[in-house]
Amino acid sequence: MKNTGDYLWVIISAMVIFLMQPGFMALETGLTRAKNSINVAIKNMSDFILSVAAFWFFGFGLMFGESCNGLFGTTDFFVDFEFNDWKAAFFIFQAVFVGTAATIDSGAVAERAKFSTYLLMSFITSAFIYPVFGHWAWGDFFYKNNSGWLQDLGFLDFAGSTVVHSIGGWVSLAGVIIIGPRIGRFTADGKVNKIRGHNLVFAYLGVFILFFAWFGFNCGSTLTASSVIANIFANTMISASFGGITSLFISWKFSKNHLPEPESIINGILGGLVGITAGCFYVNEVGALVIGVVSGFIVYFGSILLEKLKIDDAVGAIPVHGFAGVWGTIATGIFIQEKYLIEFDTTRLHQILIQIIGALAAFVWAFGLSFLLMKLINHFYPMRVSREHEEIGLNIAEHGASSSILELSSSVRTIIENKNFKNAGRIEVEQGTEIGELTTYFNSMVNELKTKEEAVDEVLKSLHKMAVTDGLTQISNRKNILEILEKEIERARRYHLKLSLLLFDIDYFKKVNDNFGHLSGDEVLKRITREVDNAIRKSDYIGRYGGEEFLVIMPETEAEKACLFANRIKDDIERLRWNFGTDYVITISGGVVENLAEEDYVHMIHRADELLYLAKEKGRNRIEA
Ligand code: GH3
Ligand code: MG
Ligand code: MG
Repeated sequence: MKNTGDYLWVIISAMVIFLMQPGFMALETGLTRAKNSINVAIKNMSDFILSVAAFWFFGFGLMFGESCNGLFGTTDFFVDFEFNDWKAAFFIFQAVFVGTAATIDSGAVAERAKFSTYLLMSFITSAFIYPVFGHWAWGDFFYKNNSGWLQDLGFLDFAGSTVVHSIGGWVSLAGVIIIGPRIGRFTADGKVNKIRGHNLVFAYLGVFILFFAWFGFNCGSTLTASSVIANIFANTMISASFGGITSLFISWKFSKNHLPEPESIINGILGGLVGITAGCFYVNEVGALVIGVVSGFIVYFGSILLEKLKIDDAVGAIPVHGFAGVWGTIATGIFIQEKYLIEFDTTRLHQILIQIIGALAAFVWAFGLSFLLMKLINHFYPMRVSREHEEIGLNIAEHGASSSILELSSSVRTIIENKNFKNAGRIEVEQGTEIGELTTYFNSMVNELKTKEEAVDEVLKSLHKMAVTDGLTQISNRKNILEILEKEIERARRYHLKLSLLLFDIDYFKKVNDNFGHLSGDEVLKRITREVDNAIRKSDYIGRYGGEEFLVIMPETEAEKACLFANRIKDDIERLRWNFGTDYVITISGGVVENLAEEDYVHMIHRADELLYLAKEKGRNRIEA
């Protein structure tokens, strides 16, 4: 019978262990890049809720139901808590355990695993992979005389170095092998690139939380309120601390920069925690110390080994949970106190052997099964996101979720790529944060530059207009109309088109200036060009060739038609009324030519000019062709 103290202890421990979820979330989001951080957080939250559901449906029954030959449980699916408060307390405690196992691989496969397939794997882990192995090692935790086959052998794993952590680590290993390394982690020339996490302070907070939650994990595993909790607590604390100290000094000595690396320290602590999980009840403080120190070594060099094998584990989950888990399990046999050997009627060597068998069984089961399953899933439905999604980041690609810092960086990228500020949108300001402040400055800077850019664009536009327009008449100037003519001649040649050109000149224009003044002359020039400009077709061009000489380019028009048109213009101008006197008439003379094969614009104008002279000679107010 369980007493109230036991209930309280187990439930409080479960609450503390629950904190492993935010702990892992903070750790993993901190160790990954900002563009994937929201995705990692969502994965951490989702795998927990999913694993509780999976465990309630199947997992609990497979793990603790009545045993089928020590292989798996067969009862207690869809767990029913009626008339059984202890079952509820026990379920809560075990549910936070399975949640921990299921969340481990989220870090390893972070930044490139698809959300949907990740959830599927999480579900399979909690509903099947974890509970079946759990039954082998812990089958009789709820029903008496219900032990699994490993338990029957005498396998010891007090709080789950193997059951929880190695299982999670081996699923992670299968996952990262199948989905492959992140883009840029290992380059073709054999270089290994570190992909830096975006918030190491957050990762450290995560480890503090995990450190705390681990006390619940290990001490709660007594499942009874008793004084041994104190020893377990002390062992856990010692191993974690020595794990951290070891990796701190190793990285100080051996890392590239000979500096205590932030990632190494936290992974050493976690390694020490994982390592002591199996033996926290069985070993003494010296055992705990050695377990911690060796865990620190294993995690540090384990990470290097994975890099050498070109296996990309985004947060170091495999060395921490897989490798240190194996070590902790075997170390339980090495450092188990004499009194327990007597109690279990076994020898140290025998115990070590059994511990090795248990660790090996976990590897074969969890790695083998998850590898096959993921291989299968991956075949029909790729578990990895597309290259494009990986590059823009899973926050946006998988959840449409952004953050100020991401918008900021994508906005800067847009500006750099477009080489202008036109498409740089205003970024939503996050109130009261440093990023928010930066965003405010950025927005006003972009605004300022946008205004300047628009002003420059306006100036450029008007400069361009000035460069091609005649100041008085506002039609194309000489340079521009000649360029157009050159292009049109080229086009006509390429497509075998007709092209006509009219060169016209105002007759006796000098007289207008002499009799009525230069300004009146200007008015005449403006009015005549306006008339002609209105008369020509959209596809025709008019330009000022010289003082009172103008060119009209008529693409895709033969000379005959152009001549008719030129005569119409001539007649229209002759009919214009001027305020110099009621019967004052201004006329024009012109020459029309059609393009010849292989003729350039100089030659074409020259021919038109000759015809214009002819028209003048023949008495003016006429068109020659
Ligand atoms: P013709 O019939 O032989 O063409 O006689 P014309 O008087 O028109 O020819 P001429 O070449 O002798 O005179 C052209 C005049 O056009 C001379 C020049 O002062 C005047 N002119 C040229 N550009 C402008 C201008 O922008 N404004 C004004 N008002 N007059 C101009
Ligand atoms: Mg003239
Ligand atoms: Mg002239």
